[in-house]
Amino acid sequence: MHTVNGAAINISGLVKHFRTGTAPLKAVDNVTLEIAAGSMVALTGPSGSGKSTLLHLIGAIEQADAGTIRIDDLKITTLRRAALAAYRRQVGFVFQRFHLLPALTVLDNVIAPVLPYRTRNDHSTRARELLAEVGLTGRERALPAQLSGGQQQRVAIARALMAKPRLLLADEPTGNLDSTTGNQILDLLLRLRDEHQMTIILATHDQRIAARSDRLIRLTDGRIADDLDLTDGEDPTDTLSRATRLRL
Ligand code: ADP
Ligand code: MG
Repeated sequence: MHTVNGAAINISGLVKHFRTGTAPLKAVDNVTLEIAAGSMVALTGPSGSGKSTLLHLIGAIEQADAGTIRIDDLKITTLRRAALAAYRRQVGFVFQRFHLLPALTVLDNVIAPVLPYRTRNDHSTRARELLAEVGLTGRERALPAQLSGGQQQRVAIARALMAKPRLLLADEPTGNLDSTTGNQILDLLLRLRDEHQMTIILATHDQRIAARSDRLIRLTDGRIADDLDLTDGEDPTDTLSRATRLRL
């Protein structure tokens, strides 16, 4: 991934089944999709519509049964194990439940995922800078349990940025937060998208959060039911007019 503007994503005929009981279930059912470099795309749709599975396929946490995914020039659906692991390390992930390690300080949580690759001191300067960027200067030595939910998600976001991702995948990042805090997290993601030149794909069932993205893709039963460009001729900060237009 080496564009200056985040990763461009090209998905074609993507299928993922799960075998549960008798009939196989198509969690992702023939999805074809192009995502522009540097955009912020929201995946919405009811629970079980395939949002998380699609993110997992794009992040190479799960393997597709059919179809291709290209991230810039890299076709990740046919990569071998070592190349796949290298790709995965370059993708930032943010989850609903933060997934911080409770016994580690904020600073060590940010450093933890890159620790096997160098020594701790090499990373601590960058980790402190990222914590400052997400507004957590002074909380480096705190434990996760001493932070609010919004602060914990900020730690998780700083951690995701350690690998300098060109692509950030966020699965219901505001799902455990009240709406004010959720909107602040979204402000932060939009700012970081520009500062770090990332493409962001965010799964959310919160329509108001989704409406703040550049593009809203609604999934139903693993298929794209709706695909709306929200950028045309509109002030991106005017969430009220977007919400009205989307009838939220
Ligand atoms: P969403 O994130 O939109 O709620 P998911 O991608 O989690 O949807 O799930 C899509 C469908 O795939 C659901 O029917 C879900 O039950 C099923 N599914 C997801 N992961 C697994 C799994 N590991 N094993 C079996 N079924 C799964
Ligand atoms: Mg999900």
